[in-house]
Amino acid sequence: MPDLVSLSRKAPSAPGDRPAAPRKVYVHTFGCQMNASDSDRMVELLGRHAFARAETAEDADLILLNTCAVREKAEQKLLSALGRYREVKARRGALIAVSGCVAQQEKDRLLARVPYVDFVFGPDNIGKLPEMVARAERERFAETGWMDSHDYVFPQADPEAARGRPTAFVTAMKGCDNVCAFCIVPHTRGREVSRAFPEIVAECAALAEVGVREVTLIGQNVNSYAGGCTFAELLRRVAALPGIARIRFTTSHPHDLSDALVEVFRDEPKVMPHFHLPVQSGSDPVLARMRRDYTVAEYLDRFDRLRAARPGIAVTTDFIVGFPGESDADFEGSLALLERARFEQSFSFLFSPRPKTVANLRLGSGPEWQEVPRAVAVERLERLQAAQRRIAGEALAAALGKVVEVLVEGASDEPGERLGRTPENSVVHLAADEAAAPTGALVRARITRAGGSSLSGTLA
Ligand code: SF4
Repeated sequence: MPDLVSLSRKAPSAPGDRPAAPRKVYVHTFGCQMNASDSDRMVELLGRHAFARAETAEDADLILLNTCAVREKAEQKLLSALGRYREVKARRGALIAVSGCVAQQEKDRLLARVPYVDFVFGPDNIGKLPEMVARAERERFAETGWMDSHDYVFPQADPEAARGRPTAFVTAMKGCDNVCAFCIVPHTRGREVSRAFPEIVAECAALAEVGVREVTLIGQNVNSYAGGCTFAELLRRVAALPGIARIRFTTSHPHDLSDALVEVFRDEPKVMPHFHLPVQSGSDPVLARMRRDYTVAEYLDRFDRLRAARPGIAVTTDFIVGFPGESDADFEGSLALLERARFEQSFSFLFSPRPKTVANLRLGSGPEWQEVPRAVAVERLERLQAAQRRIAGEALAAALGKVVEVLVEGASDEPGERLGRTPENSVVHLAADEAAAPTGALVRARITRAGGSSLSGTLA
């Protein structure tokens, strides 16, 4: 088996040679919207350095795995993907790079663990990608240092790359200053840095110029934004942009749900009536050990004020099941909270011990940190997800017969059908052709069918 590391060294082109065809980069993105947005930024950045996007790894000169470390399973997914790309590297000498949260978590250990990975870099080093690609022609390395928050430059979206797309992610901030006991994000994304609001507003305006109708402001803890104005003010500034019809944002922390933010939902129709507000547990003792900095009652108080300010708003959430020390009563608390709040949707996961987190360090260290047996945790997760499926189905069924506004996002897999979303973020399968429901159009649809996780309708 040839030395995979040396295979990737391509001979530099001689002067006067016909300009080499652009090299191709294939990005495999794992995890959250932040990673999806970073992947787009990386392709755009390389696009300014003679790279084009490859649709498959088979065509790539650079294979970039932008990783997620939020759960153990995510790491396993990376290793099995790397195994698949090893063959491509052997066959066509592609460079393999790992970025994102596993890269930041594992650093140069990943180079030792996977000898055919050429370079590893953390989220703070995205801006150096072109020079890292050149460096990888000569050596293997890990670039995982943190940038000083004063020097950190947020990757700028290339509006041209978004031309024709109805929606776009816009980075508002990065990192997180909270230390939730189960979460690895502060270790892999660093301290909070908020992007200056004029940059964000300018990017949204430029995206509106190329036809983007809906922007989603993203950050690990976006509602703690402090980039020269408050998050509520930022939303109002973006809403003032003529071409932007819809504004969404994710992900939020309940303790940063301010009165001013609730008022934006009351006053600003462009801010969509959908709020993802992770609660994680319905038990105060568990919330305290999770270091979530609110109680169930405080969470519900904010939740109720939001629902009162914007009737019909869809609220979605996250739950962790099987957190160390979670008793039957604690879990019943989560079920009761779900029934009380009737979240339109929730994303629920088994507790996964992550390196360097408080929960991982305290696991087994006392009666209240005892590991929940896997079978018990799985049974609880199934009960919670079954209850959520019932509530989600009932919430969707309430839309039957109604006429709703849909932003058309494109074609669905079904011929003669278009796909779009309601203001509440429900997916709608629209019986229409492209002429009647072009991408980017805001259309009125009558809901004719409600499924478990989406709606169907006809043009009204
Ligand atoms: S607020 Fe979110 S990103 Fe920050 S530590 Fe907690 S769970 Fe992680």
